[in-house]
Amino acid sequence: MSDTLHPLLPATTPLLRSGERAVQVGGVDGGAGLLLDDCGAGLSAVLRALDGRRSQRAVLADAARDGLDTGLVGQVLDRLRSAGLLLDLDDADLLAADAGPAAAARTATELPAALTRPGGWRARRRAVVVVEGATRVGTPLAAMLAASGVGRVSVRDPGLTTAGDAVVGGLSAADEGRPRSLAAADAVRRASPLTDLRPLSSDAGTDLVVLARPWAASDPLVSGIHRSGVPHLVATVRGQTGVVGPLVVPGVTSCLRCADLHRRDADARWPALAAQLTAGEAPPSGTAVTCVLTAATAAMQVLAYLDGSAAPGALEATIELRPPHPVPRVRRWPVHPRCGCGAAGEEQPTGPPILPAPRAGDPVIASVRTDRPRQGTMGG
Ligand SMILES: [Zn+2]
Repeated sequence: MSDTLHPLLPATTPLLRSGERAVQVGGVDGGAGLLLDDCGAGLSAVLRALDGRRSQRAVLADAARDGLDTGLVGQVLDRLRSAGLLLDLDDADLLAADAGPAAAARTATELPAALTRPGGWRARRRAVVVVEGATRVGTPLAAMLAASGVGRVSVRDPGLTTAGDAVVGGLSAADEGRPRSLAAADAVRRASPLTDLRPLSSDAGTDLVVLARPWAASDPLVSGIHRSGVPHLVATVRGQTGVVGPLVVPGVTSCLRCADLHRRDADARWPALAAQLTAGEAPPSGTAVTCVLTAATAAMQVLAYLDGSAAPGALEATIELRPPHPVPRVRRWPVHPRCGCGAAGEEQPTGPPILPAPRAGDPVIASVRTDRPRQGTMGG
C-alpha cells in the first residue's frame, strides 16, 4: 500500500443515513454517490475523519485499533475512490499546505477542486501571478487567485486610490488616497492572510501576468512581456463590457499584436484610435456585477492554465460579458499572418496549455472581419 496517498473525503460530502444500517455518501444535486449497505457508526466515523492528513495505512491502523474490519474499510475506501468521491493528497500537496488550523479551515473549501486537477494543490501554491493594474477587476481578481491557493500574487499599480476604485472584494472606500498597490495588497491579505505579496523586480519566474487596465493590450509594456516569454491574459472592463482574453502563450498562441493587426485590417483608422484610448489613465469603469463577474471568469482561466487541467477558453479568444445577459460572447483572434510572434510557425507546444484546434461549431459569434465600426473602436 502506498504511504503517499492521504485520503480526503471533503467535509461538504454528505453522509446520509438510510434505514437501519445503510449510508448514502454524496449523490445529491447530480453529483456522484455511493450507497453503503452496511455502515455502522464506527465506519461512518472513519469516513468523516478522512481529512487528508493521515496516510491510508495510518487510517487502517487506527480503524484496527478501534476494532473495525480493516479489509472492509479498505474496500470501502477503494469504492469511494473509484466513484470519485474520495480524493488523495500526496506528500507534495501536504508540504505545500499552510500550517495551522485556521489555514486548514480556509483551504478546506478550495482543496477538493484543486486535487482533481493534474497539478494538484502544489501547482497553485508554487505559482507566481502578477496583476498589472489595481483596477475594479484587477484587485478582486488578485484576491480571488490568492483565496484559490495561488502562492504569490503581486499587484502593480503606480497610482493613488480614488473613491471610484472601490468595489466588492477589491479596494475599499477607506483606501481613498492610499497607493493602489498597497491597498490592493491589503485586499489580497483580507482574502488570504498567508499569500506571499512581495513585489517582483522582474518577470523572471512569473507564471502569468494579468493585464487589468482597459487598454493594457495596446500598452508598450506588453511587447516586453511577450519578449520575456511570460504568458499573459487580458482581464478588464471596457465601457460596460467585461473582457477576458486573449490568453497569450508567447510563441505558441496568437498574440495581442495579432489581434491588433486584425483590428487594423477591419478598420485602417485603428492605430490612431488606439493611441487615443491608451493616451491617459482611464477612469474606473464597470458595474460591480460586471467587474466581479469579469474577475471570476478571469480567475477560472488563470487557474485552468496553472492547474494544467484543460485548454483555457481564452486562448486565441476573448470572452465578453455583458450583464444582465447570462451567456458570454466569444470572439476568436487567430494568428495574424503578418505578425512576427512565431505562433504561425510549425513548432508544437512544449507543454500545457494545449491549444485546441479550431473545430466546426466553435462558438464564433462574430468574426474579426465583421462589423467594422464596432470592431475598430470599442472591441465589441
Ligand atoms: Zn502575433
